[in-house]
Amino acid sequence: MNVLVINCGSSSLKYQLINADTEEVLAKGLCERIGIDGGMHTYQPKGSDKVASMIDMPDHTKAVGLVLDALCDPVSGVIKDLSEIDAVGHRIVHGGEKFSQSVLIDDDVIAAIKECNDLAPLHNPTNLIGVNSCRKLMPDVPMVAVFDTAFHQTMPEKAYLYGIPYEYYGKYKVRRYGFHGTSHEYVANRTAEFLNRDIKDMKIIVCHLGNGASVSAVSGGKCVDTSMGLTPLEGLIMGTRSGDIDPAIMEYIAGKENLSISEVLNVLNKKSGVLGLSGGVSSDFRDLGEAAASGNERAQTALETYAYRVAKYIGAYAAAMNGVDAITFTAGVGENNIAVRAMIGSYLNYLGTAVDPDRNNTRGEEKIISAEGSKVTILVIPTDEEMSIARQTVALC
Ligand code: AMP
Repeated sequence: MNVLVINCGSSSLKYQLINADTEEVLAKGLCERIGIDGGMHTYQPKGSDKVASMIDMPDHTKAVGLVLDALCDPVSGVIKDLSEIDAVGHRIVHGGEKFSQSVLIDDDVIAAIKECNDLAPLHNPTNLIGVNSCRKLMPDVPMVAVFDTAFHQTMPEKAYLYGIPYEYYGKYKVRRYGFHGTSHEYVANRTAEFLNRDIKDMKIIVCHLGNGASVSAVSGGKCVDTSMGLTPLEGLIMGTRSGDIDPAIMEYIAGKENLSISEVLNVLNKKSGVLGLSGGVSSDFRDLGEAAASGNERAQTALETYAYRVAKYIGAYAAAMNGVDAITFTAGVGENNIAVRAMIGSYLNYLGTAVDPDRNNTRGEEKIISAEGSKVTILVIPTDEEMSIARQTVALC
């Protein structure tokens, strides 16, 4: 069974065609600058190099059409025709409280996703454009919606409520939702499998450290807390997002800098995090590491502040679960950044664990990095959101 996995952003469309029986990625690619001049489609069939072609894509339907043509191309394609696509899995950012698991898409589901648009105005409408474009071009192929928020819907009230008037939850559904759920779920399950243990008996802290970053506490396979909130702005310090701040800072900065609330929010989303902390060096951890190594003190401080925040969340979630068996690092920074993992590890000795410098000298592979005999196992598990979406799609088709 072949599953096309679609992750549709406002001007981009990432995709993978996966043979779900063998879990082989048959082809993958990215359409960029959709609706903008200078469009580019990068396509990579299995076992071959990436090919980039400049082609304008006025809308997402055109982009999906290009993707389908590339997949069926007689020379570089990987399938004969569209009949070889058995299902499509769509990443949808916000399922609100309506969706606690993936669902087969029909008109009612689309209407319910639209009702969540208010909660993710930048993401959900564009995710739906991807759904509608695919439905137009493949009307008879079953499609599944996989939500970033769904895995976190098991959080108890005490974890998802904010300390603000309850009526805002009742009237507007203001609460913690959490994001990166597909990754947290996949990585927590892989952690248990890798350790040959039953996830039902485990307490796992997953640190998804990418450009966006979040931590989750997974007890018995269910999420009990996570660091992102109503929006992906809360929690860890990220590439460009501030993470947790005193909300009164917003009014204070707005007054001092003569900015509106939405302008301050833009600063918190796009100009903060390690980018802002480092005085504009970079949001990319490779650049920050190089700058710090060559003596840039603000880059060094940004990295230390980042690691400290992650360590604080690990401590909070060990407390929330009254213990922890495994701490797993994933996503770009978590999988690859040896120095940042070591910095975070330096705070974890009270848990009876330590990052082993030799074992930590690894990138992008499943591996235990804690020292022999540690009470808590620290691991690296590369995330694979597309594979997780493909599996969930198969389960519903
Ligand atoms: P993601 O959003 O998961 O793609 O993660 C992006 C982040 O991962 C960027 O800040 C990258 O600098 C970081 N990253 C990716 N590869 C490496 C690497 N080899 N060493 C250090 N950081 C890396």
